[in-house]
Amino acid sequence: MTSYQTKFAIETKLLNKTYRNKKSSTNKHALKDVSIEIEHGQIYGLLGPNGAGKSTFINILGNLVLKTSGMAKIWGYDIEKNPRNARSAIGIVPQELNLDPFFTPIEVLETQAGLYGGPKNERHSMELLKTLRLEDQAHAYARSLSGGMRRRLLLAKAMTHKPPVLVLDEPTAGVDIELRHQLWEYVKKLNKEGTTILLTTHYLEEAQSLCDRIGIINHGKVVADAPTKDLINSLDRKQVLIKTEESLNVCPSLDGVTEVTLDEENILNIIYQPTKIDFNYILAQLQDKKINIRDIITKEADLEDIFLELTNTNE
Ligand code: ADP
Ligand code: MG
Repeated sequence: MTSYQTKFAIETKLLNKTYRNKKSSTNKHALKDVSIEIEHGQIYGLLGPNGAGKSTFINILGNLVLKTSGMAKIWGYDIEKNPRNARSAIGIVPQELNLDPFFTPIEVLETQAGLYGGPKNERHSMELLKTLRLEDQAHAYARSLSGGMRRRLLLAKAMTHKPPVLVLDEPTAGVDIELRHQLWEYVKKLNKEGTTILLTTHYLEEAQSLCDRIGIINHGKVVADAPTKDLINSLDRKQVLIKTEESLNVCPSLDGVTEVTLDEENILNIIYQPTKIDFNYILAQLQDKKINIRDIITKEADLEDIFLELTNTNE
């Protein structure tokens, strides 16, 4: 499945999901008009706090949750009109580590291959297990596997039918740092080999270091969707730390800045909006006050700042 049906590996238009609770008749509008386009070959990160709707979005793509309205296509195949093709174009690693405790990894992969109508092929399954460093556990019951091993097995399971799109729902939640880095390397490797990746995370660092493009979702709504770099650049907030020649006893007041404080080390901490004032204007004010500068450190905005800014606002 290498021919491209459309420009996008995943495309959704005005996707909505309302979970209906018949007992209490309370409804949860978990996705609100979510339109996302993921290009072939991208690593796309869907970022958002708990309860934002990330798993709902992914589970709709994987046909585990029924959408209420809107459109979703995988590899050009509409999940409703062409469910078989859509399903074979995608592999999903769910957030929950749900595995049959009495299946061995090799059996898990062979069963999965069978489900997708592919020929059973122990050699391919073994190769997958090797790649994910599970070959020693190939014939052990799943219940004896550690959390990290289970997650790697689920990853192998999602890859058995060699889908062009791999979706990982919070792949590194609760995973130790070493395994996290291993998973990142594996995701990067798959992507280099041509797999389009969609992952959800609430780790900003993860999204920032892995993803080409980031969508931020909050309360079911997409609040940002841009190339990672642009997202970081878009934040109109800069921080500069200024070390002065002589110790300052009082914090000088500065015109036009967002905040100025003097810390214990006698370092001036200035926050300003680069689109509103010029840094030279800050320097000129310091000069007027006869404050001599020894050192200046500027801090780039990171995703954490953007995330807080976008998700802090209530609905
Ligand atoms: P995330 O993966 O970003 O943490 P989810 O998609 O799991 O978010 O959940 C989005 C919202 O939908 C949450 O408020 C959650 O409680 C609710 N929700 C999820 N699954 C169900 C369900 N099966 N029935 C009712 N509400 C649900
Ligand atoms: Mg989730």
